[in-house]
Amino acid sequence: MSPENVQEESAPERSPAAFRVRSARTGAARPFDRFPAAVDKRAASTPPANGVVAFKFGGSSLLGAERILHAAGLARRAARSSSVAVVVSAMKGVTDHLLSIAHALSDGKLTRARQEAEVVLNLHLDVLHDLRLGEGHDLRVRRELQLLGCDLLHEVPVQGFVAASAELFDRLASFGERFSARLFAAALEKLGIAAVPVASSEFVLTCDTFRDAQPHLEQTKQRGREILLPLLHEGIVPVVTGFIGSTPDGRITTLGRNSSDFSGAIIAHVIDADELVIWTDVDGIYTANPSESGEARLLHELSYDEAHALAASGAKVLHAKVLPLAAETDMVIWIRNTFNPQARGTRIGPDHGIPRPSQVRGAV
Ligand code: ASP
Ligand code: MG
Repeated sequence: MSPENVQEESAPERSPAAFRVRSARTGAARPFDRFPAAVDKRAASTPPANGVVAFKFGGSSLLGAERILHAAGLARRAARSSSVAVVVSAMKGVTDHLLSIAHALSDGKLTRARQEAEVVLNLHLDVLHDLRLGEGHDLRVRRELQLLGCDLLHEVPVQGFVAASAELFDRLASFGERFSARLFAAALEKLGIAAVPVASSEFVLTCDTFRDAQPHLEQTKQRGREILLPLLHEGIVPVVTGFIGSTPDGRITTLGRNSSDFSGAIIAHVIDADELVIWTDVDGIYTANPSESGEARLLHELSYDEAHALAASGAKVLHAKVLPLAAETDMVIWIRNTFNPQARGTRIGPDHGIPRPSQVRGAV
């Protein structure tokens, strides 16, 4: 971890970044144990009264500045009527890229690993450029990305030997979400919405099974509320990294590939969100794969049991751990299309009251 990151972040006056300090160990931002003066500590222990929604954006919804701004626009619209927390994946393809750095390291190909790391940093700097932020704002976010880039390059030495452990794979893989959270928060701010990137490794506490870590929900909820609720009460959108957590001694873990839907559900649970909206690139859940079958029908409403039956029959519904957590906590989940936000999407909830077993038939 580069020593430059052991510092208070320079941040605009409103930003709660002023209340955070970076951890030298994990690169995760962690809160000072004091609250913004304006927020009453007791009030901040319950979610804002106007209701909270959690939006999770997948990698294809974040591929490039135009898409990030579009997604941020969806969050801005929701922020008019309720408090919003955003959970982001890495930009599409970035996690694979980061893992290829880990593979290059384990093969002893240090030069290639370093070149790849530079490609990843430049990819995000290019998106920042395309966001066309105001000059001061651009400088500030550029500095944040560059600090993160230093941390990434620090993992990839110019010479020597690197033991490519599962722990290193997770540390490297974590950078995608850490980059995209910064870019998404910057896009929201460009649209006039106060936002701050939050590293989920600050509060998603996991076991140390790297690459497939299990979260400890109780402690995660307790720690997460201390960080997220004061932001929501201040009208600041936390933009939280999906995919990553940390062990009790502060080492970065990941919850497994494609787990950011699960992170979305965890974060929605932490803040008692009324709804979790998973924004993706299809209109919702279908009876069959719409690109393969003309018969495919979009399902508007599903109970947890119906969604479970669909998943069990092989349909690509949601990450396997989302439904159990949603059912346990009565969480309403929407699957919606970022690129077609007019479409209503699929709602998965406790019980829609209209039994439609026929909807499940023919699912693939
Ligand atoms: N970025 C992670 C992956 O590619 C998590 C996710 O996208 O859900 O596996
Ligand atoms: Mg994904």
